[in-house]
Amino acid sequence: MGATPSLANIDLDTPIQYIKGVGPVRAGHFANLGIQTAGDLIEHLPFRYETLPESAPIDQLLLGEQATIIGQVTAVRSRPGRRRGSVVADVVDGTGRARVRWFNAPYVAQQVQPGVTIRVTGKVDTDAEGRFAEFANPKYAIVSEDDPFDGDVEQFEPVYPATAALNSKAIARTVASVLEPLTQQMGDPLSDQQRDEHDWPLRSTAFRRLHQPTTLADVSVARRRLAYDELLLSQIAIQKVRRERDALPASAPMPCTDKIDERIRARLPFALTPGQEDAVAGIVRDLARPTPMRRLVQGDVGCGKTAVALYAALVAVANRRQVALLAPTEILAEQHASKIAGYLQDSRVRVELLVGGMAASKRTTLLDDIRTNKVNWVIGTHALIQKDVRFADLGLVIIDEQHRFGVEQRATMFQSAGRAVDGLVMSATPIPRTLAMTCFGDLDITTIRDAPPGRQPITTRFVERDGEDAMWSEIRDRVANGEQAYVIYPLVEESDVMDLKAATSEYERLSAGPFSGLHVGLIHGRQSSADRDAEMLRFRDGQTQVLVSTTVIEVGVDVPNASIMVIEHAERFGLSQLHQLRGRIGRGTRKSDCFLRSDSKSSKARERLAILVRSVDGFEIAEHDLRLRGPGELLGRRQSGLPEFRMADLTTDLDLLQLARDNASRILDADPQLSRRDHGVLRQMLVRRFAHLMPMVHVA
Ligand code: ADP
Ligand code: MG
Repeated sequence: MGATPSLANIDLDTPIQYIKGVGPVRAGHFANLGIQTAGDLIEHLPFRYETLPESAPIDQLLLGEQATIIGQVTAVRSRPGRRRGSVVADVVDGTGRARVRWFNAPYVAQQVQPGVTIRVTGKVDTDAEGRFAEFANPKYAIVSEDDPFDGDVEQFEPVYPATAALNSKAIARTVASVLEPLTQQMGDPLSDQQRDEHDWPLRSTAFRRLHQPTTLADVSVARRRLAYDELLLSQIAIQKVRRERDALPASAPMPCTDKIDERIRARLPFALTPGQEDAVAGIVRDLARPTPMRRLVQGDVGCGKTAVALYAALVAVANRRQVALLAPTEILAEQHASKIAGYLQDSRVRVELLVGGMAASKRTTLLDDIRTNKVNWVIGTHALIQKDVRFADLGLVIIDEQHRFGVEQRATMFQSAGRAVDGLVMSATPIPRTLAMTCFGDLDITTIRDAPPGRQPITTRFVERDGEDAMWSEIRDRVANGEQAYVIYPLVEESDVMDLKAATSEYERLSAGPFSGLHVGLIHGRQSSADRDAEMLRFRDGQTQVLVSTTVIEVGVDVPNASIMVIEHAERFGLSQLHQLRGRIGRGTRKSDCFLRSDSKSSKARERLAILVRSVDGFEIAEHDLRLRGPGELLGRRQSGLPEFRMADLTTDLDLLQLARDNASRILDADPQLSRRDHGVLRQMLVRRFAHLMPMVHVA
């Protein structure tokens, strides 16, 4: 990539650095906004528009006032000069002539040329003889040529997401310099007929209208059009992954006979709930088919997903295949292993835990036994299937508590020795159906909506500052009588020093004050994971009575004796996150209480928290969360498994998502490889957007 491309041969893949006026330094500034190429640049859309003042006819301008005129440039004179160089333009609008003068701005002459229509905003002055209205160094913009020459048309100035080093105006200027050449060569993935159906503009027109709008109505239609394109691409990518999986070489079916079913049920100390039965039925069906299972079982904490996983695993083991269960942390892996060992007491099924910190010799023996099929079921973190572990015949991979893998990551996890294996994902974060389509579009979904019988309800209360003392003293009494309590502080970022300080100083305050004489523990994100685990185990074993923690406990260790939770600054958490946290209590036989502490004066924040006081239904709460805060927040910003959308906003575009999903499947039905000529643009866009992310999307 040697020579600077001229405007004529610039394309969507041109690195931003080679756009005229950018260069290597500014390219760095653009990169900070996620903009690497010319294509990224025009997808960097304004987030709002400033209304520019209405324009006035030139013959009615008043000396000394701020005004805007729109007119045609009839002549331009550039006077070079080291200090006082200037560009002077004559502008006419049918009522009169004005003169516009820019000092020390030779670049103006590149845009302001005879014949163009221009909008000028500034203070009205006159020339020395008083013949013309004159503007000195005004704001200006070139008005698109096909616009009607109409001074009443409202004008909008785009405001872009920007940084200190790269302001919105500079972005607008760079966009303006490439918008025409780029949009001129832009094909459209939609047919005229499809666009007409929704009254959508061409893709190229949509970009022009978003960057240089003339009406706000245009803007919103244009954005929806581009949002649709984006959703369509992601749906095609997801559905292609799915279809390619279905076309994979058959994995050996693992049928569940009546006898196997009977033996598994005999291991469970309870009858399955209807929700669990439903999940099991789906899994049994999947396992018996030759195509690999890809199933998500989602349900609130405590709905009994472990029993479902156990059922699936035992079907695999009965078919003489191995099982891997992956947990997000080692401590959770241990917890699973001990629960499962409990269910499987005196059975011949050999279950082993494989975690870091095992003695080397023990580890070597274990790896040998896994390789020679002496171990039926291995439990560990996801390092388990990525490192040096070789299975003799892995048949099923179960991922627990993980909504945090992307589509493509999952595809690699559900493989062993080059073959696809059956895969089961268990998630405790209920996800509204629409959202599941985007981040779990490659999975079949079973939802468990009921809870095992006899569950103790959790009462949730909202506590403001004036109720705080009473709350602490109630907790102190209850803890003194044998209950255990969590006190949670928000930790927005692991590096957030302020939050860390809050948890640490509150820990000190509580230990010295309300909880003096009790055993209080502290967990935060800056501790080593070994320290954290040790502290967690002390709490689990009852050595500490109160655990002060940042949200690192979110992933869910079971402490049935913990029946009290205080969540400080509750307004800073998402509803689903609060619900998730609160699921840590109410797991034993005691009546449990969750105290939401907030001194927020915002009525919105209070309304949000009221939803939590009122409802214990994770799905209802997730729906609210989706509406109030959007999908990124609902799923957790980092590693949400959610594709990054630039145009689409899943809080407002769910209808488009549905449409995109239906159309994606229609398109792939008709043309699985997108090789038809009329899908050429779509195929190109798909490669540009997903090729590097999803090597399994083969679009030749
Ligand atoms: P999850 O993983 O969904 O959060 P668990 O599998 O840990 O939930 O189950 C929570 C508790 O409910 C466990 O103590 C388990 O023994 C119990 N449990 C699960 N299913 C049933 C059932 N059908 N009837 C009674 N108790 C159940
Ligand atoms: Mg669980």
